[in-house]
Amino acid sequence: MLEDKSLWEVLKSDVLIIGGGFGGLWAALRAAESGASVILVDKSFAGKSGHSYFAGGAMMVLLPEDDLDEYVHDIALGNEWLVDQEMVTEVFKRSYDRLKDLESFGIPFRKSSGAYVWTKARGTRNIKNFWPEHATAADEVTVLRKVALSRDVQVVDHVYVYDLIKADNGRVAGAVGIGVKDPKNFIFQANSVVVATNSGGYRGHHLACELQGTGPFMAGLHDAGAGSGDDHPAVFGDLPGQLGGLLIFLFRGQHAR
Ligand SMILES: Cc1cc2nc3c(=O)[nH]c(=O)nc-3n(C[C@H](O)[C@H](O)[C@H](O)COP(=O)(O)OP(=O)(O)OC[C@H]3O[C@@H](n4cnc5c(N)ncnc54)[C@H](O)[C@@H]3O)c2cc1C
Repeated sequence: MLEDKSLWEVLKSDVLIIGGGFGGLWAALRAAESGASVILVDKSFAGKSGHSYFAGGAMMVLLPEDDLDEYVHDIALGNEWLVDQEMVTEVFKRSYDRLKDLESFGIPFRKSSGAYVWTKARGTRNIKNFWPEHATAADEVTVLRKVALSRDVQVVDHVYVYDLIKADNGRVAGAVGIGVKDPKNFIFQANSVVVATNSGGYRGHHLACELQGTGPFMAGLHDAGAGSGDDHPAVFGDLPGQLGGLLIFLFRGQHAR
């Protein structure tokens, strides 16, 4: 099957996103907003797979009047300081905008007398959790998929990505995958690659614990140089609070091993 060229499809984009849960879908939306051409690939059906579809839907949000440093400290403490604090900071800075985005996509969050109702996020000291009104995480990711499609994100379902492609200069330049339902091979060529295959963990205090790894695609990331000193890839920071233990890697021409 690998030798038969008719069974290979080459897909090109500015940005390739691997994984179609909250992490991948939000990344796709934001990349598309910036004018990039985006392909999102998932081994299952993006928006109906992974942890996201089965989650509660609560979202940790920093309201404009809340203290960012306190939030970051709270998460760092809950994760015994094994977190990327810059990433957590970026997530919270934008969390209110993401809440507003979800509302504009038709997912209202609980309010009473015009003010948001929240509960304390489990495992934190003071972080606010906001809950969707009459909706679950399944509704949230379903709507994110719809919005991504409406913004010309090309979604490729049922393709298992098993490796990252490195160019001759050692930079990450795409990925290779295999059809889960159809006997087909895929080469994805891209300037930037976002790996959003989940941290693989469900922890009460959520958010970006570095030790949680990156779920099913951990080996591919390590092989490409993630987490190896100077080659450590940038972390994609523009994500909503509800991303739980998410750890996303963005390769933007970083050197890989
Ligand atoms: C029961 C439960 C309840 C939760 N409740 C909440 C909550 O209320 N609030 C909150 O903030 N967090 C909650 N969480 C945590 C939250 O769900 C996760 O942190 C979040 O969904 C992670 O999103 P993700 O996009 O990183 O991963 P996922 O949603 O798991 O998405 C990863 C995607 O990558 C795809 N994929 C993986 N490997 C490959 C590959 N090799 N090739 C192609 N595709 C691949 C998968 O098919 C999947 O679609 C909960 C988790 C659980 C399990």
